[in-house]
Amino acid sequence: MRTYDKFYINGQWVEPIGKGTSDVINPATGEISARVPYGNAEDVDAAVSAAKNAFPSWSQTSAAERAEFLRKLAAEGEKRNADLTQTIIDELGMPIKNAAVFQVDPLAIICESFANKAKHMEEQKEVGNSVVVSEPIGVCSMINPWNYPIWQMIGKVAPAIAAGCTMVVKAASQTPSHLFIFAEMCDAVGLPPGVFNMVHGSGREIGAALSSHPDIDMVTFTGSTAAGVQVSKAAAPDVKRVCLELGGKSPFIITEEADLDAAMEFGINDVMVNTGQTCNALTRMIVHESRYDEAVDLAKSKAEALVVGDPTDPDVFVGPMSSAGQKKSVLEYIDQAISDGARLVTGGTDMPAGLTTGNYVAPTVFADVTNDMAIAQEEVFGPVLVMIRYSDIDQAVEIANDTPYGLASAVWAGDKDKATAIARRIRAGQCAINGAEPNHEAPFGGYKESGNGREFGVEGLHEYCELKAMQY
Ligand code: NAP
Repeated sequence: MRTYDKFYINGQWVEPIGKGTSDVINPATGEISARVPYGNAEDVDAAVSAAKNAFPSWSQTSAAERAEFLRKLAAEGEKRNADLTQTIIDELGMPIKNAAVFQVDPLAIICESFANKAKHMEEQKEVGNSVVVSEPIGVCSMINPWNYPIWQMIGKVAPAIAAGCTMVVKAASQTPSHLFIFAEMCDAVGLPPGVFNMVHGSGREIGAALSSHPDIDMVTFTGSTAAGVQVSKAAAPDVKRVCLELGGKSPFIITEEADLDAAMEFGINDVMVNTGQTCNALTRMIVHESRYDEAVDLAKSKAEALVVGDPTDPDVFVGPMSSAGQKKSVLEYIDQAISDGARLVTGGTDMPAGLTTGNYVAPTVFADVTNDMAIAQEEVFGPVLVMIRYSDIDQAVEIANDTPYGLASAVWAGDKDKATAIARRIRAGQCAINGAEPNHEAPFGGYKESGNGREFGVEGLHEYCELKAMQY
């Protein structure tokens, strides 16, 4: 069992002021995998004060100096890769097959990416008699979810370091250990005291304090839309900048000309990876009526071929849900979909074959779904795909856009140009064309209730900047 008893504030490991502790449960075994301190709003005060004091000198460092710290963090991340991967397996239950690739390897990649972008902070633009420069926004708070905890954390911390901001970071209660390890990494590379600070505790108390503290200039939050709304309200009175990366119910349009086997392989893997606990999962598959039955058969065979089970088994692709509560919620959605008239093609509420304990849910596919059903409108956050049929492309686009969300999307059509024409009509922040890979250099973020602001890419750096125009 991993045990931590201090927070990292102002370059030191300090006793928390709040005296609580929290046990982290391994979702595959039900055993305690970590015990960590659970602080309170006074811990936030201490961390924010450190970040505020560090800002004047840190914000004046050169871009090259900050880039060097990010490169050192990348190297340190490679050294700590195995430790970080183990936290993902033990706390999230993501299988070892994917944990490093999807969750931990990006840490070094994203640090390098923003090391290369720090130089943009020293660029200036001439507009008439003005010179426009970028400056760091100030003290940032960062609140992260449990589903891709390291990726989400580094997608905030790396651009903030590159920009010259200081920060206070909180992980989700379910997945805290990586953040203690990351603090050790910041210490090891000699990041100046107060630049990176971490606290841990409940969203209700610590998260709320990080959203409302008067000395915080920007709150950046990834999590559910409901909590994102609370964060925005808490940040409103003193007009903080708020960057929100929220939920999704992303559509995948498959046309009659698509390479159906390839499209279904892409779609099933996309939904089932991380046991469906992925914000941008393509959970609504919208298939032309002429290929619908064939697509349903392929979805069934591909979902049933996925190995479900112990995340430490290298053959396993689908691990447990992250918690008993998450499993219960997913099973309730499955029950409701059945009573709403969706056709259960595979999966359902029984334990997957061969498993008797743990928070497992079988990869589940529903056909004959209409877009007004709860299973098509609400974020299930589990290994559940819904398949909807369409008869013409206008209808497909209408279904794709008939959602409060707009995080991601995908189109598989006969060729790239036809797919692009459809992609341009979808109201979402990303679109994967004909099975394309994700790109961490491209901006990521949502339309509508999926959030505002962008992470990653040069746009991810700009979120942490203020613009100043000086007239001559
Ligand atoms: P969540 O319940 O909203 O929690 C996210 C974080 O916010 C946690 O650290 C949580 O702390 C904290 N929190 C909860 N209530 C808060 C409040 N009122 N004020 C401030 N902080 C609060 O979300 P989750 O269940 O961890 O994550 C799943 C959600 O995140 C899904 O909706 C998913 O789509 C979304 N997500 C979006 C993206 C994206 O980039 N768009 C990426 C990943 C995940 P505790 O853990 O202590 O409760």
